[in-house]
Amino acid sequence: MSDRYISVVNGPLKGIVKSLGLPAPVELRRFDPADPRHGYLTEPILVVGPAASADPIAELLLGADFEVVRTATPGQRYSAIIGVFTGIDDPSELGPTALAIGAGIKQLARCGRIVTIAEAAGLTPEEAAGTTAAANAARNAVTGITRSLAHEMRAGATANGIVLDGVDVLAPSAVSALWFLLSAKSAYVSGQFLTVDSARGTAVTAREFAATRTSGAEGAAPLAGRTAVVTGAARGIGASIAGTLARDGARVIGVDVPAAGDSLARTMNGIGGVALQLDITAPDAAATIAAQVRGPIDILVHNAGITRDKLLANMDGARWDSVIAVNIASQLRINSGLTELGAWGEHPHVVSLASTSGIAGNRGQTNYAASKAGVIGLAAGAAAEFAALGGTINAVAPGFIETEMTAKMPVLTRELARRVSSLQQGGTPQDVAEAIAYLASDAAGGINGRVLRVCGQNMVGA
Ligand code: NAD
Repeated sequence: MSDRYISVVNGPLKGIVKSLGLPAPVELRRFDPADPRHGYLTEPILVVGPAASADPIAELLLGADFEVVRTATPGQRYSAIIGVFTGIDDPSELGPTALAIGAGIKQLARCGRIVTIAEAAGLTPEEAAGTTAAANAARNAVTGITRSLAHEMRAGATANGIVLDGVDVLAPSAVSALWFLLSAKSAYVSGQFLTVDSARGTAVTAREFAATRTSGAEGAAPLAGRTAVVTGAARGIGASIAGTLARDGARVIGVDVPAAGDSLARTMNGIGGVALQLDITAPDAAATIAAQVRGPIDILVHNAGITRDKLLANMDGARWDSVIAVNIASQLRINSGLTELGAWGEHPHVVSLASTSGIAGNRGQTNYAASKAGVIGLAAGAAAEFAALGGTINAVAPGFIETEMTAKMPVLTRELARRVSSLQQGGTPQDVAEAIAYLASDAAGGINGRVLRVCGQNMVGA
């Protein structure tokens, strides 16, 4: 599943590639538990915006031992630029902060980060009630700035936004969202927004955010003491999710169909997890999971998924029904079954795998896109129920990920799918797993009912 083009374009052919204007992806910097920099770049961070809004962020970063700069200086390199747009009431006030970000962009480090912070705009008349039209316009304008910046990034850099929906800029999950977006854990997330709408969640420092089971004192890992169930854990993205949750300290129960029993056992043995052979479409799947776990379930990742592609004109009932049954109906049944059994822990975090196909649709995938758009609806629809349980439910939508599935695509289709993202390459299962591990942590307790795309800002499905 290697992308040989990346090594070719960064090797002797670099000059030719540039002169021909061909895509020039770079090797992304990904999180490494052994990294003494804890997944953050070491150059200073440029923080721009009106003083009243940007000062708290600058102080937060200084307190976390980052070097902070407030205006761009020629010759200085920046690991990140943070544009704080809070407190802006009219689009005419956007210019100074936007242009201050622009002044630093040419000095952004390889795999650098731009993060915008703004208040949430209401996108329906009901949501926008109580805000002036000018303030609502200014808030939504920041999404346009951020998405366009993501398209302008080069050399593995990304641009993302934090949206504050009625919460302070220093709310625990606004802060943890900043650590996630600044870190190497968000390598393949670009052009996206993390919306924080409650002050719930555990406050963590940048170092605590990047801790793993092997990196620090006992109990320092973000998921230490948690029990996590991951479906479809035998291979691919699910195996990566299971490994990442275990790395972050969780006890993992991996679920997969009996036919995948051998690879499930291998994956679970490799991470010290427990294998549970189970078809998640079984009517009593929730009871079987609860019986195996024997204790509170703190994290549930609905990863198992299948495709049965056909144009709708040629679709048969079996293809349609099996995709709906595995990808969405089982999730609804397991969630409500576990609630009925009282099987959840104190702050349960559920993360479901959606797909960019569920956002943009895809030819030949009406059944799959229905199930994945359904997952997004499920997360939003169950958010209140999980908030009442003290937890969260969110969806993660991967774009083109280098897996056995995508390795089987015809060469040209695959090549096109890789290059049509702002990062000009596919993501890895690890990229998806990092986003899930973050949303499954108590530090993300203020993010609920949302969907986060891990797609390198794929232009198909924008
Ligand atoms: P994969 O086919 O490699 O792995 C899926 C796993 O789920 C397999 O181990 C399979 O045995 C298991 N599974 C299937 N049906 C099951 C059932 N009824 N009960 C229990 N386990 C079952 O897929 P992947 O590429 O790793 O994808 C994982 C998830 O991510 C899926 O939900 C998929 O739709 C989603 N996704 C993948 C991509 C990508 O590019 N690979 C993109 C977007 C979304």
